[in-house]
Amino acid sequence: MLTAHGLCWLCQMPLALAHWGICSCCARAVSPELSLCPQCALPAANARFACGRCLQKAPPWQYLVAVNNYVAPLSTLIHTWKFSGKPELARALARLLLLSLKARSQQQKPDLLVAVPLWQRRHWRRGYNQADTLCRPLARWLNIRYQPEAVRRIRPTATQHQLSARLRKQNLKNAFRLEFPVQGLHIALVDDVVTTGSTVAELSRLFLQNGAASVQVWCLCRTL
Ligand SMILES: [Zn+2]
Ligand SMILES: [Zn+2]
Repeated sequence: MLTAHGLCWLCQMPLALAHWGICSCCARAVSPELSLCPQCALPAANARFACGRCLQKAPPWQYLVAVNNYVAPLSTLIHTWKFSGKPELARALARLLLLSLKARSQQQKPDLLVAVPLWQRRHWRRGYNQADTLCRPLARWLNIRYQPEAVRRIRPTATQHQLSARLRKQNLKNAFRLEFPVQGLHIALVDDVVTTGSTVAELSRLFLQNGAASVQVWCLCRTL
């Protein structure tokens, strides 16, 4: 995917505002109106109420906002961003997330943004934490405090998707340490892709156990 400054990353048409990265036409295509459960962001009959799965077993967070499932062209953008050394795509992707957040006005405005931390070695290999690069522009645009490294991964964890649900939970137990007081704060936890949700669930529990008022999750992709 080649792009020059001032052109849309997807259709290569000139942008009205160069820093948007993606034109409004492509932005609509990337994030079509889907009927998603507001709590887990998986397909649901009614987008206004929590789905049957969430009613039966509610996740620890209150809302989950995602731009889309892991489908093209969003998946292509994310892949290029993460693996082809295009960190400048972060701002364009953060803007897509901003548009999705604006489309769903019912959430509580958070007091604090927190990026899902990477395990150090993975952080080094790719050179940066993707969630951190999403948080920075979002914090600016929405005027919300962002606390980098509010939470740290304190021990390595095995790759989650190879594990069963039970092992996944065990794998993440005590994997994180809170480095910032969250008492009474409404928190938005930011990640690039949420699959099983076990990492964001573990972090949400950590915040709530430490007195956070509420937790919501913001991500580019929600997939199973
Ligand atoms: Zn475009
Ligand atoms: Zn749900």
